[in-house]
Amino acid sequence: MPQTIGSTELTQMLRTAAARIRQNHEMLSRLDSFGGDGDHGTTMLRAMTILEKTLEKPAGDPKTLLTDIGWAVMGVDGGATGPLFGTFFTGMADPAAEAIDAGILAAMFEAGLLAVQGLTKARPGDKTMIDALVPAVEAVRAAAEAGDSITQALDKAALAAEQGADATKNMKATFGRAKNIGEKSIGNPDPGATSVSLIFRGFSEGVR
Ligand code: ADP
Ligand code: MG
Repeated sequence: MPQTIGSTELTQMLRTAAARIRQNHEMLSRLDSFGGDGDHGTTMLRAMTILEKTLEKPAGDPKTLLTDIGWAVMGVDGGATGPLFGTFFTGMADPAAEAIDAGILAAMFEAGLLAVQGLTKARPGDKTMIDALVPAVEAVRAAAEAGDSITQALDKAALAAEQGADATKNMKATFGRAKNIGEKSIGNPDPGATSVSLIFRGFSEGVR
């Protein structure tokens, strides 16, 4: 029997992702203080607070839920983060269905990534959130094709995102504010990629 999820599980995934960011916002701002303006944690915290508020309303179908969340997050002021993460969620809404199986979930993450890539030319290796997002999305697709359950797929995605974020330590920033410090950005992980890894770890915990 193929495992599917709906608005209830999506809500739980998003809530757990928000909790993960909340627990780690100080670390995220510290990471942003090396090459950026040190606000990434507070901006993410604001985004997640708005996300949680949106989730208090009765959940519609997954499409409506993700569209509402995405627009709410997009409206968060404070630089690049709100639009990038908000667009990921609105992008995910497009292929969403009432009952989401692993294949549909993979299509949703791919659509989210594609939407984000419409906003930025950053590619893997540029030391941005893309370095965690691309491996996470690819992991869900590979898991879906291997016949894994959603739980297994999200486990693999969380691991892939963490590895992707970790690999940004050795990269030189060429996008966002951190590009201003160039070589000096080497040594610490990218804050946005770290946020992506926390969000996917939250998804993986929240779906259980
Ligand atoms: P800002 O840089 O505007 O202060 P934040 O500090 O909230 O925004 O977020 C910084 C993170 O956003 C970076 O670590 C990076 O992952 C991501 N980011 C910033 N600019 C871009 C971009 N042009 N393309 C992709 N990701 C970006
Ligand atoms: Mg910043």
